[in-house]
Amino acid sequence: GVFSTLSDRLTTVLQGLRGKGRLSDADIDATAREIRVALLEADVALPVVRGFIAKVKERAKGAEVHQALNPAQQVVKIVNEELVNVLGGETRRLNLAKNPPSVIMLAGLQGAGKTTLAGKLARWLKGQGHTPLLVAADLQRPNAVTQLQVVGERAGVPVFAPEPGNGVGNPVEVSRRGIEEAKAKQHDIVLVDTAGRLGVDEEMMKQAIDIRAAVDPDEVLFVVDAMVGQDAINTATAFRDGVGFTGVVLTKLDGDARGGAALSVREVTGQPILFASNGEKLEDFDVFHPDRMASRILGMGDVLTLIEQAEQHFDQAQAEKAAAKLHTGQLTLEDFLEQMLAIRKMGPIANLLGMLPGAGQMKDQLGMLDEKHLDRIQAIIRGMTPAERDDPKIINGSRRLRIANGSGVKVSDVNDLVNRFFEARKMMASMAGRMGFGGGGGGKG
Ligand code: GDP
Repeated sequence: GVFSTLSDRLTTVLQGLRGKGRLSDADIDATAREIRVALLEADVALPVVRGFIAKVKERAKGAEVHQALNPAQQVVKIVNEELVNVLGGETRRLNLAKNPPSVIMLAGLQGAGKTTLAGKLARWLKGQGHTPLLVAADLQRPNAVTQLQVVGERAGVPVFAPEPGNGVGNPVEVSRRGIEEAKAKQHDIVLVDTAGRLGVDEEMMKQAIDIRAAVDPDEVLFVVDAMVGQDAINTATAFRDGVGFTGVVLTKLDGDARGGAALSVREVTGQPILFASNGEKLEDFDVFHPDRMASRILGMGDVLTLIEQAEQHFDQAQAEKAAAKLHTGQLTLEDFLEQMLAIRKMGPIANLLGMLPGAGQMKDQLGMLDEKHLDRIQAIIRGMTPAERDDPKIINGSRRLRIANGSGVKVSDVNDLVNRFFEARKMMASMAGRMGFGGGGGGKG
């Protein structure tokens, strides 16, 4: 899609931060510079990039250190939140009239994808239980009316087209009569497809303004091709200052051009993005969710979910206690079980692993990859007495057999867990020592 390159770049920049224990202002500046280049190369408008970078820097430098997040996660979180802001924050729903029919007018340049969008929107609205009527007021482009009739048929939505007596040749008249038709036939939403030109021109704008005045729409949706680059910004500004619009629809997000301009539309025009089109088929269409789009662009859907969950579920006191013990080599199986349960509350372990500092090594040591294995580990630890959890060395042969039988595993599994636990504890303690957490391999292990 149009954001793939940007997504790759941002992902790489942010991944570069992983594993850093602390971010200096210089680190943040360097990261901000890389993000800036990525955004500019993706065609995001300069003022938008400037504002974005300034906010990210300011927030990253002043960030309250949230104990649940490492510095890299902190920056990912900030970048994500600012991206959501640029894209409009909350999802903006369609405004519908209290007294139907609601009128939605589509405006934009020729080729932007208005007619296709009319079909998509009609199909989608019908799926939501509405009874839309499409009105063909694009009398400019040859075939536009026929094309609307074709998509209308595919969407299973009737089309009001100019015919003799319907206001042939006069798009304002066609629109007006279309609304009359909708009232007469009890359609609750009217979608008016209007004419575009290849570029912004006065006559087109005047026609759009006249149609708007005639139909008094509840929404005017500006349809913009995400592949056209910086020109999208100029076009959007011209439409805003001309006919005016209440919302934006991005089309051709499936394309391979750079789509950064589309990311700038909301910030530049101040109007929200309501829908996104990503293909030629009628189903290739969705409500635009700024948060989902941001996490898609960051290529970190899972990570962002994890960050949210970590913030919600994190028990700081418990984690600090465990960390302190870990660093001094005093971690017990009881602590380990507690931490494991806390982590598992957050979701499938495979998603979490990459994000946990030091998890790479722990994964190898403890073979923590699949959920079944985790279930087994939990069962084994639960089969131990508190004293045994505290100091697994005291578990003798017959106890190992009892624990194995009690938790439905083999004795070798119990041995494995105990041995790996010792190894891991030793390793973590020496790692902590090397990383300057103090402690080192002491403790009672
Ligand atoms: P209009 O002049 O604004 O009414 O634009 P059209 O609806 O005729 O669309 C122009 C061209 O873009 C057509 O070939 C459409 O099939 C194509 N198109 C529209 N929306 C999309 C989209 O989301 N993705 C892709 N790949 N093509 C699209």
